[in-house]
Amino acid sequence: MNPKEQAIKDRLAEYMPATAVDMAFALMQQYKLYVKVVAPRKTRLGQFAVKLAPNARPVLSINSDLSPYQFLITFIHEVGHFVVWQEHGVNVKPHGVEWQRAYANLLTPFIKPDIFPKDVLLALEQHIVRPGASSCQDAVLEQALAKYDSRTKTLNLVLVESLAAGVHFVLDGHTFQKGKILRTFCICVDVVSKKQYRVRLNALVLPIAH
Ligand SMILES: [Zn+2]
Repeated sequence: MNPKEQAIKDRLAEYMPATAVDMAFALMQQYKLYVKVVAPRKTRLGQFAVKLAPNARPVLSINSDLSPYQFLITFIHEVGHFVVWQEHGVNVKPHGVEWQRAYANLLTPFIKPDIFPKDVLLALEQHIVRPGASSCQDAVLEQALAKYDSRTKTLNLVLVESLAAGVHFVLDGHTFQKGKILRTFCICVDVVSKKQYRVRLNALVLPIAH
């Protein structure tokens, strides 16, 4: 391997489980992607940006403060956006069926006990069999990941259960308003799309002033 490739792999190993580096690097090579580690953004963990200059490589940016597991999952999430963009351009929904399919295909080879701890692995196995579920229903995965995540403290994440009705909060990059509680979840409204979602009461969220 040339020294440049080794340097990229070494850098990846600083942010994601070392056992995932070879596979992640292979994806970067296959799709000719750059990965940029950036200062933490509050409302997103990662982003895929298309560079339209000739021969420019597409860039995935990922927040620097993620746990290795969240970093890897975010990397796959963004590679999924690239794959969909390559096949369909911008004519499909960002997290529609095309993305869900690409994401599940890309993530499956990484769902292994030498990459993820057992609780995250179990949550991921659930996560992948129902890729149709909206991200805010993946509270089980969020909660499993939160245990390994220093941001839980620094970002002041709280259980949605502890918030008063009407409070706004951010979950997975979307802003919701908490509504009424039904058994183990609450009905929350995405303040942008006005769509209603069920959010599990044990979801960790970032409350915001509005
Ligand atoms: Zn996305």
